[in-house]
Amino acid sequence: MKNNKWNRIVLKVGSALIAPERKGCSSRYLLHIAKFILQCRDMGIQVILVSSGSVAAGAHFFNNIENPSLAIKKAMAAAGQNEMMAAWDRFFDFPSAQILLTHGDLRDRERYDSIRETLFALLDAGILPVVNENDVVTTDALKVGDNDNLSAMVAAAADADSLIICSDIDGLYNKNPHTHDDAVLIKEVDAIDQDIYAMAGGAHSSVGTGGMKTKIEAAEKAISHGVSTYIINGFNEHSFEELISGNNPGTYFKPYQRPMKDDLHWMTHTAKAQGELIIEADSNSPFDENSEQFTSNEIVEVRGDFSVGDTILVSSDDGTHLAKAESKYSSCLLNFITTHDNDEDNDFQHHTGPVISDKNIAYLNQDEEEGQPV
Ligand code: GLU
Repeated sequence: MKNNKWNRIVLKVGSALIAPERKGCSSRYLLHIAKFILQCRDMGIQVILVSSGSVAAGAHFFNNIENPSLAIKKAMAAAGQNEMMAAWDRFFDFPSAQILLTHGDLRDRERYDSIRETLFALLDAGILPVVNENDVVTTDALKVGDNDNLSAMVAAAADADSLIICSDIDGLYNKNPHTHDDAVLIKEVDAIDQDIYAMAGGAHSSVGTGGMKTKIEAAEKAISHGVSTYIINGFNEHSFEELISGNNPGTYFKPYQRPMKDDLHWMTHTAKAQGELIIEADSNSPFDENSEQFTSNEIVEVRGDFSVGDTILVSSDDGTHLAKAESKYSSCLLNFITTHDNDEDNDFQHHTGPVISDKNIAYLNQDEEEGQPV
C-alpha cells in the first residue's frame, strides 16, 4: 500500500473504542486515533470520520442498561451523540461537523447527491465530517443497521481513495482467532468470495453492532468503487503508526482496477429494492445481450408496493435475481395491467413499453464489463 497516494480517506471507529466500559466516552483509545487524523491532515489527506458510540456513550444516563428497549436505545443514542461529538472535538483545533444519516437518506438519489455536496463543501473548508447513523429516527426498514456498511456507502459517496475500518482484532483471520490458536492473519485479499465470508463467520464485538461479516460486506462495497480497504486493530496504536509509514498493519483489500461508475455502484450497493417483478425463466432473458427490454407482457407477478422511479428487483420465476433497476411504473398500475391481461378491451399491454429505465441497470447474475476485480 502507498498512503502517499491518498487524497481522501474514511476512517470507521466503533463503539468499543469510544466508550469501552459503557460509562461515557474515554480518551484511552481516541488519543492515538485523533493523532492519526491530525497526521493525515498534515500530509494533505482529507479525512471523514464515521464514528459509532452514541448508544454506548449515552448508556450511563439510564438505568437498566443490560436489556434496554428500542426506545431507550434511541434515547441513549440521542443523549450520547453529544458526548461522542464533544469527545472528538476535545482533540482538535479545527471544527468538526455532525452528519446523521439513515439508509432512507442514502437510497434516495436526490438526498444522496445532497449528502455528497455537503461532504465536499465541509472537506473544502477544512472541517472534519463526523458521520453516524441517525438512530433516533430509524425504523427497521430505514436503517443501514451497522456503521461498517455505512462507512463504505460514505466512502463511495465521498469518492474516497481508502476506507480504514477499525476492529478489535488485527484483521481478517482464516478462522476465529478467539477460539483457534492456529488462526492465521490474512494480509491481502484480491477478491471477496464465499470463502472470505466463511472466514469472517463468528468473530464479533460485544459493544457495537458490527462483526467481521459486516466489515467484509463493507470492504466488498468499497473495493467495487475503487476504494482500497483496510481492516486494522484500532486498539493498537502501532496500527496507525504503520499506516502513516505506508505499511499494511492488518488486512488489505485490493480495489477493483475497473471500478463501477458511481451511478451503477449506488444502484448495486446503496439503493434498496422497494418491490420485485417476477418474469418467466426463459432462455431468452430480457437481459441477454442485444435483447429488447421486457414489457408488462412478460411479468408473471408484481410484489411489494412501489412508485414510479423506485428501485425494484427483477427476478425470474425460478428464483434467480436478475437485476436491480428503476421502475418506470408504479406497482399499482403494473398490478392492474397484469391482472387484466385477458380482458378483451385491455389495451395497456401493448402500450407500456419497457417497464424499467435503461439507465443504471445493475445486473446481478452475469458478468459485466465494468465492476470486475481485475
Ligand atoms: N449508530 C450506533 C451508535 O452510534 C452504532 C452502530 C454500530 O456500531 O455499527 O451507537
